[in-house]
Amino acid sequence: MRKLIGTVFAAALASAACAQPAAQAQAPAPAGAPKLVVVISVDQLSADLFDEYRRHFTGGLARLANGTAFRNGYQAHSGTETCPGHSTILTGSHPTHTGIFANTWVDQSVSRSDKTVYCAEDERVAGSSTTNYVVSPMHLRAQTLGDLLKQRWPQSRNVAVAGKDRSAVMMGGHAVDQRWYWSGKGFTTDNKAAAVPATITKANTEIARLIATARPALESPPLCQGKATPYAVTPQLSVGAGRFARAAGDLRAFRASPEYDAAVLAVAAGLVQEMKLGSDGAPDVLSVGLSATDYVGHSLGSGGEEMCLQLLSLDRDLAGFFGVLDAQGIDYAVVLTADHGGMDIPERLRAKGNATAVRADPALETAEVGKILAAKLQLAGPVLLGDLANDVWIDRGLKPADRTRVEREAVAHFKAHPQVEAVFTKRQISRVRLATSAPDRWTIAERVRASFDQQRSGDLYVVLKRYVSTIAEPGVGYVATHGSPWDYDRRVPILFWRKGMRPNDRQDHISTVNVLPTIAAEIGLALPGKVDGRCLNGVEGVACPAP
Ligand SMILES: [Zn+2]
Repeated sequence: MRKLIGTVFAAALASAACAQPAAQAQAPAPAGAPKLVVVISVDQLSADLFDEYRRHFTGGLARLANGTAFRNGYQAHSGTETCPGHSTILTGSHPTHTGIFANTWVDQSVSRSDKTVYCAEDERVAGSSTTNYVVSPMHLRAQTLGDLLKQRWPQSRNVAVAGKDRSAVMMGGHAVDQRWYWSGKGFTTDNKAAAVPATITKANTEIARLIATARPALESPPLCQGKATPYAVTPQLSVGAGRFARAAGDLRAFRASPEYDAAVLAVAAGLVQEMKLGSDGAPDVLSVGLSATDYVGHSLGSGGEEMCLQLLSLDRDLAGFFGVLDAQGIDYAVVLTADHGGMDIPERLRAKGNATAVRADPALETAEVGKILAAKLQLAGPVLLGDLANDVWIDRGLKPADRTRVEREAVAHFKAHPQVEAVFTKRQISRVRLATSAPDRWTIAERVRASFDQQRSGDLYVVLKRYVSTIAEPGVGYVATHGSPWDYDRRVPILFWRKGMRPNDRQDHISTVNVLPTIAAEIGLALPGKVDGRCLNGVEGVACPAP
């Protein structure tokens, strides 16, 4: 086990897990509400990946899969990016109500020259920019479980730890006791008022030492060896067969590897112990954002040896993490889900027989379309703002009559492209009703509606066809992605676990917005306001309130 994981953190966690008797998880269910709710988001863990690897898990993911396991969970909205996905998990609401409909958006009213705003940024602070931002939950229009807990029980603690700041911000929310995320070189926080826990100081020292040392390749079990086929995504770059060997000091390789999740879990376990979470009368919440699966997916794709090693390592490291909680004797409940799924590299999908998998035409870049329209309509300026697909903004500097012309021409231009599935105007989307049916049955327009923010969203929304990757030109660190309204990006596992729960394999289609109302019922928290989600019936130990 240690050889496979190969990090000091994982080794510490694994030894804690190994010390636990296997029967612990089978002990009778405790009475009353759990004292600690642990909510884990595994970034980019699609339901497709969960289904593929489920029978190979033996550790923490196997434990959770033996609770009430919904394999058909959905991030129901269209803009399946990290910030929106995390914003739904603990608010009970779709991005249309959290306000977090994308990782970044264009706000032409900001006074700085850079008009792109980051989802977890306070752009009002001087010096904050899209790439070097001041972290803040300011854009989140909803309250999280932790926010609500602290209103109901002031002594409740709300703690968030993650590989990404946006994960920790959107799951932690506005009122956190501790919030820590990876800054590129160590764990840092936006919550400067709180005293720095000893866990953080220690972890930052140990991680610096770890990264400074080269890491040999992991041992690859036969399951992963069987997936080790290289695919060329550019003439210079092949992915598919790799075991996470890392040069000393390579921060990027550290982040896209199992070591990264092990570090976050070690910090989470340390904070549980140091803060004595789950030890007094009021329930506490710990949200954990595990980002390595996403970095592995983006840089190496999801169908090769690398993702296999990542998921098996995660399974073991989660076992170690739960072992630490068990050893503390804490009565805790766990929910594990994902912020979105993902699409593998088109090159490998095609080799496996999916002839429709392709990369987007670079001519679909919003800036490129803007140039064409500017020439055609004889207009100056960028005309259109945005990336490739999803939200597109029309230049506010144009006269109203020109804006109307641009909108009409842009819709026609995008619609004429063979890789485009649909184009919606802001007006069209605002007239669509927010769907409440099972998320697998939602139309594309309903998915886009759940991502729609009247004030912040683009003037147009461009949907590419299924299996068209928005990475037109792959490069090192970025070969595969997500963000579409298609089910490979929307469908995620949602797993509820507590000690003593009987296995309950659920096939029904549910949404991540159901997580908050279900946890609230489990811990006896009456929700003070309306949310989009509903409490899930049939989760053992949860009595949903009468509708
Ligand atoms: Zn993500």
